[in-house]
Amino acid sequence: MAVKRKSEADSPGEKLVSCIVPIHLKGRLTYRWPFDEPLPARGTRLLLPLGRRRIVGLFWDQDSEFPDRQKLRDVIEIMEKEPLLPEGLLSFIEWASSYYYYPLGPAISEALPAGFFSSTRKGTRESTARGIGPGRSRLEIKNWSESHVGKLSHEQDEAVRAISAALDTRLFNPVLLFGITGSGKTEVYLQAVEKCLKMGRNALVLVPEISMTGQLAGWFSARFGQGLSILHSGLTREQRRDQWWEIRTGKSRIVVGARSAIFAPLSNIGLIVVDEEHDSSYKQAEKFRYNARDLALVRGKMEKATVILGSGTPSIASYQNALQGKYRLIEMRSRVGKAVLPDVEVIDRRKEKEGNKKSKSCKKQDMEWLSPRLREAISETLARKRQVLLFLNRRGFATYIFCPDCGHVFKCNSCDVVLAWHRKNKAFVKDKTQDSFDTPGLLCCHYCGQTYPALPACDKCGGQAVRASGFGTEKVAEEFLQYFPGTTVGRIDRDTVSSKKRMERVLRAFRNGEIDCLVGTQMITKGHDFPGLSLVGVLWPDAALNVPEYCASERAFQILSQVAGRAGRSSIRGKAMIQTFMPDHYSIVCAARHDFERFFQHEIQKRRELGYPPFGRIVNICFSGVKKLSVEQAARNVASQIDGRFKKLDNFTMLGPVQSPRARIKSRYRYQLLLKGGIKSVRTVCSWIDSRLDSLVTSNVRVELDVDPLNFM
Ligand code: ADP
Ligand code: ZN
Repeated sequence: MAVKRKSEADSPGEKLVSCIVPIHLKGRLTYRWPFDEPLPARGTRLLLPLGRRRIVGLFWDQDSEFPDRQKLRDVIEIMEKEPLLPEGLLSFIEWASSYYYYPLGPAISEALPAGFFSSTRKGTRESTARGIGPGRSRLEIKNWSESHVGKLSHEQDEAVRAISAALDTRLFNPVLLFGITGSGKTEVYLQAVEKCLKMGRNALVLVPEISMTGQLAGWFSARFGQGLSILHSGLTREQRRDQWWEIRTGKSRIVVGARSAIFAPLSNIGLIVVDEEHDSSYKQAEKFRYNARDLALVRGKMEKATVILGSGTPSIASYQNALQGKYRLIEMRSRVGKAVLPDVEVIDRRKEKEGNKKSKSCKKQDMEWLSPRLREAISETLARKRQVLLFLNRRGFATYIFCPDCGHVFKCNSCDVVLAWHRKNKAFVKDKTQDSFDTPGLLCCHYCGQTYPALPACDKCGGQAVRASGFGTEKVAEEFLQYFPGTTVGRIDRDTVSSKKRMERVLRAFRNGEIDCLVGTQMITKGHDFPGLSLVGVLWPDAALNVPEYCASERAFQILSQVAGRAGRSSIRGKAMIQTFMPDHYSIVCAARHDFERFFQHEIQKRRELGYPPFGRIVNICFSGVKKLSVEQAARNVASQIDGRFKKLDNFTMLGPVQSPRARIKSRYRYQLLLKGGIKSVRTVCSWIDSRLDSLVTSNVRVELDVDPLNFM
C-alpha cells in the first residue's frame, strides 16, 4: 500500500509503535511510524526491518516511551488496509498465549495458514504480499449420503430442545452431552447447527482426528450444502489457505476441523461443538501446547456461544464440572433403534498360562497375541460370515530386536528408545507370507521416525541369532492368516494408511464386507460404523495401563469403551473381548460393564487423594538440550530457585527434577520438573519462572512449560 511518508522535519514528535513478530521473543518490538497515515487497527500487518532482514509484524499498540529513540528504525510499509485477523480472534489468541506461556508472535503464526505470518519467508515485498489472499487450490468436500435418520429418539429430542433453549439465550452456555456410543450424537449436532444458522450465527465443529473431519464434514455438507469449510493439518498449504480465506471473508458459516480449527477466523460464533471431548488429541504435544477442548470453552465465553462437549466417555474433568453445575449435563443413555451395547467378556490370560503348563497342548505361538478363547470366538464369527475387528495400539511387526548372545537391544542413535521392527506397509493382506528375514524390512524409531536397515546379525558382537520380541499390528495381520487361512485382512495404522485416501479405501472395503478382519491402532476406534462387524477383540490393553501418567486409567477406560462400542451398532448383537493379564483393574472391569459412573467414582477419589486434576493444576516444566550436564544443571537451578522462593506458598508442591521417562529424544537430553497445586499458586510460580528464564537458564538449554499436560514421557 503506498502511503505518504512524513518529511524529515516531523521526526521529534513522531509516533512510536509496538509490533508483534513471529519469532520467539519476550514482549514486542518498537519502531518509528514514518507515515502521515493514522495508526491502523490492531493486527494489521506491517513490513519491518530486523537486522539485515525484512520481516512481517503485526501492529499492536502505540508506544509512548522508549529510552533511546535514535536507535529505532522505521516501519517500512503498511501491508494492508484491514487487519488480517478479526479483533475477537486476536484477543482469544492473546489469552491462550498467556495461559500456555507461549509467546504471542509464534502463537499467532501457528494459528494461521503457513506464509501469512512467519519469519521463514524471505521478507521481500513481493513474497509477503502474496502470502495473503485466497489459495490457488480449491478443496472439494464430498457429500456423504445424507444419513437416514427418521424420527428423533426421545433422548435426542430432549437433547435438541435443551440445546435450542441454550442457543436462544445468546449467552455462554457450556453443555456436556454425555451420549453413549451409538446414541446418535451426530444428529443432535446437526440440528443444533441448523438452529444456530437460523438464528443468524455461525458454528464451529471440532473433531479429534483428521480422518473424522471428512466423514462429519460430508454429513454437514449433505445437510447444509454450501458455506462449509474444513480446516486441518492434512490439507495442502493452498487448500488450507483457501479454506481460511473463505471463513475470513464470511463465505463459510460452518467450520468443521481438527484441533487447530479452534483458531478459525470465524466471526459471530453461536455454537461450538467439541465431539469426543475426552480425546487427548485435542492437546497439542509440542510448541504451542494448547488444548482445543479447553480453549473451546474460552472462545465460547468470549463469543457468548453455546459450547457442546460431546462424548460417550466424558473426561473426568468435564464430568466433574457437570456434576458441580458448571456445565449443563444432557444424557443419552441408550442406542438409537434396535442396536444395543455389546456384551463384553474379559479374558484372563493368567489362567490360560496355568492351563498350558499342565497340558502343553497349545503352541507357544498361540500364546502371544491370541488367547484360545478369542481364537475360538473369531472362528465362530468368521463361520457366520460376520466381521472381526482387532485393536492393538502398537505399530510394526515386532516391538524390539535383541541379540541373545550378548544381550544387546537395538536402540535409536538419537533417542533413548528401542527400535521396532517393520517389514511391510501393506494395508491388505491376503496370502501367507513367510515369517523370516526374507523381508528384512526396517528398524524404526517411533519417536523421531528415523529408520535403520534390519540386519540379520548383531552390530555389537556379530552374533547371528538375532531375535525379535513382542508384536504389533503388522504381525497380528500376517499371523491372522496362518490361524484363519483363506481370509482377507485389512490393516489400519500410520504405516499402511499414510494418506486419507488410503485410509478411506480400507474403511470402505471393511464396511462393504470385502475384508474379514480389520486390525488397527487407535485410528480405528473412533466414529466409524461397520454394519457387518460383530466381534471386537482388544489384544493388549495392559500396555496403556502401565504407563507412568496420572491419567493412564482414564485413557485406558475411554479407549476400551470406544473400541468395544464399535461392535453391535446395527441390529446384529455385537460382542467384545478384552484379553488381559490385569482383569481386576477397574478400568477394565468398568469398561466391560459399560459402567462409567463406577469408573468415575473410583478415579475421582484417587485424584482427590493425590491432588491431581481436576482438584489441582499441574504444569510440567520440560528442559532439553544436547549437553546432558547443562540440562541437568538448568533443571536443578530452576528447582532450587523455586524451592527457595515459594517453599511456603499455599497449596503448592514441586516434584523433581527428574530425568524424563524418555531420557533422550532426537539427540536431546530431557529433564522435567512438575508443579502441582491450586491454580493461583501454580500460576504465580510459572509467571515468575517465565519472566526470568533468560537469567535462570543458559542459552543451550530449551525450557518449555506444558500447562495441563497429558503426556509425561
Ligand atoms: P454416536 O456418535 O452417538 O456414537 P451416531 O451419531 O454415529 O452415534 O449414530 C449412530 C447411528 O444411528 C448412525 O448410523 C445414525 O445415522 C443413526 N441414527 C441417529 N439418530 C437416529 C434416529 N433418530 N433414528 C434412526 N437412526 C438414527
Ligand atoms: Zn529416534
